[in-house]
Formats: sequence, structure tokens, C-alpha cells
Amino acid sequence: MTNRMPTLPNSLAHDWPQLVALVDRYRDDTPCRTGHHAPCAWFTSDDEREQRAAAGSCAICPVLDACREFGLTHPKEVGVYGGLTTSERNSRK
Ligand code: SF4
Repeated sequence: MTNRMPTLPNSLAHDWPQLVALVDRYRDDTPCRTGHHAPCAWFTSDDEREQRAAAGSCAICPVLDACREFGLTHPKEVGVYGGLTTSERNSRK
């Protein structure tokens, strides 16, 4: 069973270095870093189908909640954040 990190406090939700540090801490269990489930490039692809395929592997990521919160608060970012593609995040505005 995966231990999820708690959602970042609001004060950290906009902090990219904080998110990167969290991902680095759990990098061996983070699909977009390990590339076990899809080529890492798909996470930042402009192609929605590739993003969707990559996003499917986020379900097991220990930092999913924090990553999703960051992505939802940064709509201009392109790519997968917390299991959501760019268009999925934008549709939640
Ligand atoms: S939730 Fe997905 S995009 Fe975010 S760090 Fe984890 S594997 Fe990467």
C-alpha cells in the first residue's frame, strides 16, 4: 500500500521548489521519474493522448495529492499533474 503525503498547505501550494523536493524525496516510487509505466516524456507531451496514457500511472504515486494541487493552481503549466492532463485540469476551472 502506498503512503500518500498530505496535501500541501495553501502557503506551499504555489511553491515549485517545494514540490520538486517532495518528488525528489520519493523519486524511486514516482512514476514520472522512474519511467516504469510510460516514457517520462509523455508526462510533458503536447499530445493529449500521450498525457492521458502517462496520467494513468499517477495513481500509485506517493505525492499525487500535492502534485495535483500544484497543477490545479497553475493552469498555464502544460503536462500531467496529479493524474490529470492539461485539458482535464483546465476543465476544472
Ligand atoms: S502525480 Fe504523476 S506527475 Fe505528479 S509526481 Fe506523481 S507521477 Fe509525477
